This record gives sequence, C-alpha cells and structure tokens, in this order.
Amino acid sequence: MKIVVASGKGGTGKTTVTACLTRVLSGKLTVVDLDVEAPNLHLFLKPEITDTQTAHMTVPQVDQALCIHCRRCSEICQFKAIADLGEVLLTFPELCHGCGGCMAVCPEAALTAGRRALGQIRRGYAGEVAFIEGRLRVGEAMSPPLMRAVKATVDAYLDTATATVIFDAPPGVSCPAVNAVMDSDLVVMVTEPTPFGLYDLELAFTAFNAMGLPMAVVVNRSGRGDEGVDQFCRREGLPIVGRIPYERRIAEAYSQGQIPVDVVPGIKAVFRGVGAALKRMAGGAKRPVEVDHA
Ligand code: SF4
Ligand code: SF4
Repeated sequence: MKIVVASGKGGTGKTTVTACLTRVLSGKLTVVDLDVEAPNLHLFLKPEITDTQTAHMTVPQVDQALCIHCRRCSEICQFKAIADLGEVLLTFPELCHGCGGCMAVCPEAALTAGRRALGQIRRGYAGEVAFIEGRLRVGEAMSPPLMRAVKATVDAYLDTATATVIFDAPPGVSCPAVNAVMDSDLVVMVTEPTPFGLYDLELAFTAFNAMGLPMAVVVNRSGRGDEGVDQFCRREGLPIVGRIPYERRIAEAYSQGQIPVDVVPGIKAVFRGVGAALKRMAGGAKRPVEVDHA
C-alpha cells in the first residue's frame, strides 16, 4: 500500500503528519522523503543511514567527428537542449529531459548516452522503520527525474503489495507534486482551516482528483480559523480523517525536532484514528467515519 502525504501549500504540517504516522501504523513500514528539493523528514526520524548512492539520468554526448550537421537532433528536441552551430554541435545537459529522442534519430550514431548527476538516494533505518530519501544536487533544476529514481529504489527493495510505504510529497500542485502522487493507492492532503489553506486545498483536490485516486484530508491547527475547509470537504465528499488541535506544545515539539505523537499527550490517539481510517480506505472503504472537531 502506497500512501502519499501531500499538501497544496508549504507549512501545513505535512512532514509532521508523515512522521506521526510512522509511530502508529503497524506492520512492515517504509517511509520515503520525496521532497527532494528540501528533504527534512530525517530531522524528525533521525535515521541511521546505511547506504548512499548517486542517481543519474541519461543525456546525449556528441562525437563531433561523426556529426554531419543534419540537425535532426536539434529539431526533435523540445527543450532546446541541442544547438547546431554549423561547424560544432552543442549540447546543454542541464536542459535535457532525458527522452532519448535525439539519439534515436541521429543517422550517424554521433550521439551516445552520457549521464548527468541528479542527486543522492540515501537509505537507512529509524528503529524498525525503513527510511529512504532523495537529495537533489545543488544547482539541479528538475526534481522529477530524481523522484522517479527514488520511487524505482522503493520498488526494487520492497513488495509494495504487502508492505506499507508512506511518501512525504513536495508541497504544491506542480510537476513534482503530481509525480509524487501518481501511482499511489491513497492521497492524504494536509491543510489548515484558513482561507489560504482552503484555497490551496482546492488546487490540490483539482489536480489530484483528475487521477481518480482515493483522497482523505487531515486538518492541522484545528480549532482556529473558519469553516471553509469543512464546507468544501462536505461538498466534495472528501473525508476528514483527523484533526490536529492548535496547541502550543505541538509547535514546541516541532521546533525541537520531536515527533508530537511521542511527546504531546492525546496526539497519539488522534493519529491512531488517522491510521485506522487510512487502512480502511486502502481496504476499499471510501468513506471512513469522520472525526469531530478536536
Ligand atoms: S534526450 Fe531528449 S531532451 Fe535530451 S537533448 Fe535529446 S531530445 Fe533533447
Ligand atoms: S542528428 Fe546526429 S548527425 Fe545530425 S546534427 Fe545531430 S548529432 Fe549531428
């Protein structure tokens, strides 16, 4: 079962929710930080890293002696990653999306597969929980290729039919967030009961609903703000599976790198309820019993 914890905007408590879920979900559990531009789940879980690998993507490299300057490669490239200057062919690896089209159309085999470093994939354990994270190389513009490499690592090491995997997605609804959510079994959207939280929840719902995935909502900082998020969820049939109360002690735990479930009384019960609801949803029940305001 693949559960993705996502949010329409940053700062809603997505990583806190992910960390708390690792404390309450039973069975064989793996947690994956897919927020590769700013991975910080490790600050909560403090895993022991046992393996670090550099991930690469394939980019073309040119043999100038073989090139006849037919321009087929520069014409097929949709990303302006190849330029034919007449006497020399230039490639721009940082613009390349790795589709391989240029190498496929070259009639002289002047283009061959080189590689560009995307970042690192780190694996380890936080107690009994397996931990995997991607760390984008500083200066690398595109995060989806590294995210796909991280997901491939998960698939290589795990039978996701029997194991539970929680993915901490990047915030927002652009390409990286969509890459994180696609091919998951369940999306948990973390929001807050404010006009800003509602606006970004609506964006996330619009983006992820198009994929036909089961979705649930966790409301963070519940007890403040307004009723907009509740009204939206009722209208769209989105189950609210947990409400994390607005409490100073939770913010203090966060600021000290502690997992609220470990140190704040009453929070474990909240997340036990969230975990049970998610398991029911993943098992086919689309509408778990909703929780009252905390
Ligand atoms: S692999 Fe694709 S994106 Fe990269 S240079 Fe070739 S055609 Fe362009
Ligand atoms: S397709 Fe091959 S031969 Fe033609 S310009 Fe590109 S590298 Fe040169």
